[in-house]
Amino acid sequence: MEYILVALLGLIVGSFLNVVIYRTYKGVGFVKGRSYCPFCKHSIEAHDNIPIVSFFLLRGKCRWCRKSISWQYPLVEAGMAVAFILLLWQFGPTAEFFVYAIYAMFLMVIFVQDLRYQVILDQVSLPGIPLAILLSLLVLHIPIVDLLIGMLIGGGFFAFQYFVSRGKWIGGGDMRLGALMGAMLGWKLVLLALFLSYMSGSLFSIGLVLSQKKRWGSRIPLGTFLTVATFVCFLAGEQLIWWYQAEFL
Ligand SMILES: [Zn+2]
Repeated sequence: MEYILVALLGLIVGSFLNVVIYRTYKGVGFVKGRSYCPFCKHSIEAHDNIPIVSFFLLRGKCRWCRKSISWQYPLVEAGMAVAFILLLWQFGPTAEFFVYAIYAMFLMVIFVQDLRYQVILDQVSLPGIPLAILLSLLVLHIPIVDLLIGMLIGGGFFAFQYFVSRGKWIGGGDMRLGALMGAMLGWKLVLLALFLSYMSGSLFSIGLVLSQKKRWGSRIPLGTFLTVATFVCFLAGEQLIWWYQAEFL
């Protein structure tokens, strides 16, 4: 029963995040105003705005102009439902669940924007940093020193590459995302998250090069891997560290 409730909550949150993803990217406010079609600007009625269901009822097309609606919409909705289910499974109905659910919302917005538009927006990452410091400190009980060192590691790791390459390897947005990850995870898990994202990112790049979809050196959206790795660390970070220490140390 709880799982059905969080799945529904995830769908609704995902639907809201789709609006946030679009409107922060376009630079329009998302607090006021109804949802509208990005092509014909026709406002979307409530009965056409039901997560996932509407997309399939409308066969992926706007009711008014018949232009295709992006698969992003149902995928983000389903993705948030799955994320919330996994978090509930790991943390139960606790305060931790809600904190990680909020973190997952920030990560989803950054994930989609980096994947689709190749940007990590400051309007998304910067408000997340003080919020994450507060929640990690007060609810997750991560010591402030752990958080500060985590932010220094996460932000510094990218700041170093940014200045060495004069902004060629990575963008400034990665720095802010690194600091945000540190504030969400603390220093141990941010190291693990960086490691996991570089491992998965490298494997993915090698796969692309081998399948000749990309040349060496063409940019892959790093934020996409960083956000997924951060979420994996919420769920399994501690267990991965224990396992590593038991196995290799
Ligand atoms: Zn339309």
